Amino acid sequence: MTIRLRNLSATPAYKPGKAAPTDAPDAHTVFKLSSNENPYPPLPSVVRALEEQLDSVNRYPETAASALTRLLCERFDVEPENVVFGSGSVEIISQLMRATAGAGDEIVFAWRSFEAYPMLAVAAGATPVAVPLTPTHEHDFAAMLAAITPRTRLILVCNPNNPTGTTISADALEDFLAKVPAEIVVVVDEAYLQFNRRPDTAIGVDAMRRHDNVVVAHTFSKAYGLAGLRVGYALAPETVATALRQVALPFGVTSLAQAAAVASLHAETELDIRVDELVAERDRVGAALAEQGWELPASGGNFLWFPLGDDTTTAADVFEEHGLLVRPFAGDGLRVTIAEREANDRIIAAGAALRSSLLQQTAVAELELS
Ligand SMILES: *Cc1c(COP(=O)(O)O)cnc(C)c1O
Repeated sequence: MTIRLRNLSATPAYKPGKAAPTDAPDAHTVFKLSSNENPYPPLPSVVRALEEQLDSVNRYPETAASALTRLLCERFDVEPENVVFGSGSVEIISQLMRATAGAGDEIVFAWRSFEAYPMLAVAAGATPVAVPLTPTHEHDFAAMLAAITPRTRLILVCNPNNPTGTTISADALEDFLAKVPAEIVVVVDEAYLQFNRRPDTAIGVDAMRRHDNVVVAHTFSKAYGLAGLRVGYALAPETVATALRQVALPFGVTSLAQAAAVASLHAETELDIRVDELVAERDRVGAALAEQGWELPASGGNFLWFPLGDDTTTAADVFEEHGLLVRPFAGDGLRVTIAEREANDRIIAAGAALRSSLLQQTAVAELELS
């Protein structure tokens, strides 16, 4: 007898970033630049907060996460009713999909964007509708509006966009939201908010205050460096927030994750210094690559996007030869996370090597043509 499972053959698999080999010789450390992780270890104050929680892990975590909720309410000037937690903001996105869309319903998002979107949409039983980015790797809002049908239940907007790093202006988002039917939920995924230095950027919370259908998704994984603990949250209008809680994983945010998130918010000045350093490094690497002739999209995240098309897979090998594990999306491009200074210097070196090998390739191709 065959076990009856749902037909999940259409579910795109989530490919986690390649892990660094554990047997790497010290002389040539391999840097894992494939998951947009923060290279800094947790702050001593965060480690202390975790240690204080350890002897009570026999208890379930507090579902309301009241200490964390209080801090977020102060920070964003919202009520506890507006805050919902998830096991990473990936779970927030999944909650939104499960709360809004069922079989036959459509979820619209830009593509290429966060890999988890199509996967989670299919898992929710909904139909993913991927709208290609513009040639400059940005959300194509006109095309996204045109993709809305009577079956559309959720629209995802990623600012800055993973993996292209492109950002969205406040005016562009406002113009889009004004045209989206008010009964469709729009989520602004701001996983990289703290790295975004665009002066006129859209701010999800501002949009949420103006529109009853807008939800913001934030995470402690990237700028706060808590990827291994899994904690994210939604700021949402009360009706949506209530629905999200109804589909949330019970006890999805551990007591350790809550304690570390609280400690991180208390240590924000220290964490901001690290974020500033990563932003400075991103801009240093970006400038060095531009000098080499690369025309990469300006990034608002802790990563850079190389739009390499068919050269992506061989380009990933060049990075690997420099001891860098990056995230290639075959046929499209590759994403490199900004990390320690040594790793970043190697990105610059790999960029130079890649550039000359690609130019050589073109020269050979031209020679063969003539
Ligand atoms: C990393 C990321 C997330 C969420 O990560 P979690 O670790 O689940 O909080 C969400 N959206 C985007 C675009 C991301 O890159």
